[in-house]
Amino acid sequence: HGQLICVGTGIQLAGQIGQLSISYIELADVVFSLVPDGFTDRWLSTFNDDVRSLQPYYAQAGEIKNRRDSYQQMVDVMLAEVRANKIVVCALYGHPGVFSCVSHMAIEQATLLGFSAKMLAGVSAEACLWADLGIDPGGSGHQSYEATQFMLYQHVPNRCAHLVLWQIALAGEHTLTQFGTTKARIQILVEHLSQWYSLEHEVVIYEAANLAVQSPRVERIALADLPDARLTTISTLLIPPQQALALNPAMLAKLGISEMDLG
Ligand code: SAM
Repeated sequence: HGQLICVGTGIQLAGQIGQLSISYIELADVVFSLVPDGFTDRWLSTFNDDVRSLQPYYAQAGEIKNRRDSYQQMVDVMLAEVRANKIVVCALYGHPGVFSCVSHMAIEQATLLGFSAKMLAGVSAEACLWADLGIDPGGSGHQSYEATQFMLYQHVPNRCAHLVLWQIALAGEHTLTQFGTTKARIQILVEHLSQWYSLEHEVVIYEAANLAVQSPRVERIALADLPDARLTTISTLLIPPQQALALNPAMLAKLGISEMDLG
């Protein structure tokens, strides 16, 4: 009976994938992949003879294509193999279900058709970010948004927490057809953020290394300088807290404790 297993390959080649995910890749009749580079595809091919990249479903040079159409085609091609009663692995870089809709869509559709489908967690870009920057997000809490969604909807950042903006290089690109945004739109994002953060506030452009021999990109700049910064498809923006945590006196009173009682 056909089944679908979505696994994450992590960000860094070879070292960030779980043993269970590797076992499924070895067991699969066919592996569909969406990974950062050819190295990772070749590495996957050492575990399974039938690895097929999903990359060609994205718009190719000169083509204009909505990413939603690309995702649906990726799902369709994987579901066709599940329907043919194959064991299908969908191997996506990072965590397969974090800021990534393909595996969620595929699992939903496979399940609706009565096939067994599941997701195994992987090491996401954000997991690497906390490690490389030496930050425990539990220290103050954190919020994570897709940059364009953050702009288009009424999200209110908590200035006492870390704010992570994914797909910063696409901020304000609502058509889902381009692979970059414009300086003017990043400027609009900066103006939006300036409701909560000072323009001098230090933000971090972060890019985890794909290969063990590379170093991560960690660029600290003032928020005001973001429109002139080099942003790529793998850039993530971290905005550290601008304010210290503030105690909630009403809650302390309810719990019958004072500031002194806190460690
Ligand atoms: N599923 C992926 C994960 O778990 O990391 C995220 C996919 S999301 C469509 C793409 C975004 O992830 C990028 O725009 C960027 O914000 C982030 N990202 C991907 N690769 C990254 C890297 N090497 N370093 C930092 N952020 C990265």
